[in-house]
Amino acid sequence: MARQFFVGGNFKMNGTIESIKDIVHKLNDAKVDPNTEVVISPPALYLLLTREHARKGIEVAAQNVFDKPNGAFTGEISVEQLKDSNITWTLLGHSERRVILQESDAFIANKTKTAIDGGIGVILCCGETLEQREANKTMDVVIAQLAAVSKQVQDWSKIVVAYEPVWAIGTGKVATTEQAQEVHKGIRAWMAKELGQQVADSTRIIYGGSVSEKNCRDLAKEADIDGFLVGGASLKPAFVDIINAKQ
Ligand code: PGA
Repeated sequence: MARQFFVGGNFKMNGTIESIKDIVHKLNDAKVDPNTEVVISPPALYLLLTREHARKGIEVAAQNVFDKPNGAFTGEISVEQLKDSNITWTLLGHSERRVILQESDAFIANKTKTAIDGGIGVILCCGETLEQREANKTMDVVIAQLAAVSKQVQDWSKIVVAYEPVWAIGTGKVATTEQAQEVHKGIRAWMAKELGQQVADSTRIIYGGSVSEKNCRDLAKEADIDGFLVGGASLKPAFVDIINAKQ
């Protein structure tokens, strides 16, 4: 089954009104592969601005969403509020939230369920630390992160899995194509066993961690790499080259 190439841009806690408008306008005007699904994820404060300026066909993702409906949850944003603002995706489980904000697998699974039930797409991040990789625990860690979600969520049609080895994020140390492909293949095999062949065949598994205009083409050639989640380079002109990695 052909899976549409998917490239997400995670701006993290970067940008200003002016710089985000500039990035979005440049992206609107760029020649991008029409076969790539493009989703950009600015800080919450700039979601509406980004939605207002991004052209049709470019979707916008929150970097997080809460697992409860509207109510007394200071500082949080609900799925209903995202939908009200035409924000159709959210990132969840990014390692910066797992590590710095101490989000648990179970909490991320709850949030994924709430988003999926509400009709929002989820870019679900998973990945191991360097210590875990060196202890040969990569697949155990990644599968445990995904299994927590599979306990709560049956419908995976709106989930894109982002494999992001923590040691490769923002470090300039990209996983080799072999390392990335091996984990992606392992994730797909786990999906086939636990979620069924149809889910395994149709779910996009994208790679994140120091993706650049230099390494994206080789990574994109691997059978189980269906796109990228891009941090630092999503703020630069290089993002367009990464969107076009399959061309
Ligand atoms: P990076 O970040 O591309 O800057 O390594 C990727 C991510 O955190 O999603």
